[in-house]
Amino acid sequence: MKIGILPVGQIASNVLTELGQGLVKIYPDIQCSIIKESLHVPESAFDRKRKQYNSSTILNEIRIFASEQNRFHRVLGVVDADIFASGLNYVFGEAYTPGQTALISLWRLKPEFYKENASDSVFMLRLQKEAVHELGHTLGVRHCPRSFCVMHFSNSIFDTDKKQSLLCDQCYLQAALAISNLG
Ligand SMILES: [Zn+2]
Ligand SMILES: [Zn+2]
Repeated sequence: MKIGILPVGQIASNVLTELGQGLVKIYPDIQCSIIKESLHVPESAFDRKRKQYNSSTILNEIRIFASEQNRFHRVLGVVDADIFASGLNYVFGEAYTPGQTALISLWRLKPEFYKENASDSVFMLRLQKEAVHELGHTLGVRHCPRSFCVMHFSNSIFDTDKKQSLLCDQCYLQAALAISNLG
């Protein structure tokens, strides 16, 4: 499975590289590349009242980009903005389940957001978990009732910190089957 990691707005390249290196350790038979073009954060996604961006609008832009490119089985967009989805105060990411595209946001993964000391390792581990989670959705894996599984729903950063960056056996089998079906 070829995964393209797409910056939406300005994202530090070392963050994207490290993310790709982490993903290949989790999923079988995948290759990650960083897409050189970046997408602008769509202005139409900004909600003035909430002062947040609508993740579904951004996700749709990524979907259009991915279908025009047609180079990757999956495109994972990375944005550094506060995103929300309808019915939720905020989200860490969103994906089509199943589908070709996913989005994750760095905004609420930084320890500084919670008035904690900056830590690259804490930040990257959270990013890894959210990326594995959203990619899992694109492979058709739904939320898992096991709290340690990376496919468990994160209501807050505490849930993200509590779970592993790995899929449980059942979710892993489902994901691996979906990857092998891509051919
Ligand atoms: Zn989810
Ligand atoms: Zn699971």
